[in-house]
Amino acid sequence: MIKNLTIKAVFSALCLLMTLPARSIDEQGRFVLVIDPGHGGKDPGAINGKSQEKVINLNVALKMGKLIEQNCKNVKVIYTRKTDVFVELYKRADIANKANADMFISIHTNSAKGKTANGAETYLLGVEDNRTSANLNAALEENKAILLENDYQAHYEGYDPNSPESMIIFEFMQNEYQKESLKMATFAQNQMVKSAKRPDRGVHQAGYLVLWKSTMPSILVELGFISNDNECRYLTSQKGTDEMGQSLYKAFKEYLDYFNKQTEKAIPATQAIGNRNSDGNVSTPIYKVQFMSLKSPLKKNDKRLKEYANVDYYSENGICKYTCGDTTDYNEIIKTRNEVRKKYKDAFVIAFYKGKKISVNAAREIEAKNK
Ligand SMILES: [Zn+2]
Repeated sequence: MIKNLTIKAVFSALCLLMTLPARSIDEQGRFVLVIDPGHGGKDPGAINGKSQEKVINLNVALKMGKLIEQNCKNVKVIYTRKTDVFVELYKRADIANKANADMFISIHTNSAKGKTANGAETYLLGVEDNRTSANLNAALEENKAILLENDYQAHYEGYDPNSPESMIIFEFMQNEYQKESLKMATFAQNQMVKSAKRPDRGVHQAGYLVLWKSTMPSILVELGFISNDNECRYLTSQKGTDEMGQSLYKAFKEYLDYFNKQTEKAIPATQAIGNRNSDGNVSTPIYKVQFMSLKSPLKKNDKRLKEYANVDYYSENGICKYTCGDTTDYNEIIKTRNEVRKKYKDAFVIAFYKGKKISVNAAREIEAKNK
């Protein structure tokens, strides 16, 4: 448990005050996952003899990230650290928020005074369990990592890691990512139990600073207890590293499936591909300029919808692709594209024909035949 260095979350509160950033974001439309190995550098986290939490966390994080990079082409993985370095909790939040991440997963290893406690557990931010002493103490211990930071008072709004009363700041948090955080937490917990065969300590909520300010769904996993000699041996072994990394990878894949389904459901049927040529004019291809790919549709009042004429979108592989322009005249769409490139330098022309997206070359050939 204990000492999470991870506070990535801190930073987000500022963003929450200003309305949420559009979730868009990786230009290639990829899902952005931030993996946060707790502790590092001068902060070892919990220890048992020569075993250090920071090492376990990093090894499992790297294993998980590698599997995702190998198997999930549409996911961009960002680490808050890839080596044994100290990173302040608020900077971890900053990394995730600046990357417009879609998910933040902080990885930790637990510790208890006795040697018997064992098993995996998963947290999301909340207050209900602050009232039970075990979860409160776990979160307080993790939050103490900020004592190793210079000037921590400046970054955590007066939070005092030595005072349980400080936890009250979390009471006022309306976490709008609660539903998605709970989904991910449940997948993670189930996989650690099912595929890595860890004793099940359940999913909980507590006041982890590291989860506090992130502007995306966020969870914190406690892989097991370093203070339990058996579990410590397992978590520091290659087998343990591989199994824990694999179980978190599988959990993430489950979340990704869920996420993609949600995104697809969000697309209105009326905005299906090439809707305009379904009402006539079917013998001529339509050209549009694609300028932006997002993971979910823009809100109706988003300024970008008015930035150009005929802004529209279609869904492909769970990604919303925004277009502007709408013409059967190829020369005209090139002019539009050049205009749009002043702001969106990667904008390009696409073509639709009879309700389907086709290549621009194929569209040009159809035009030539029609003449
Ligand atoms: Zn920790």
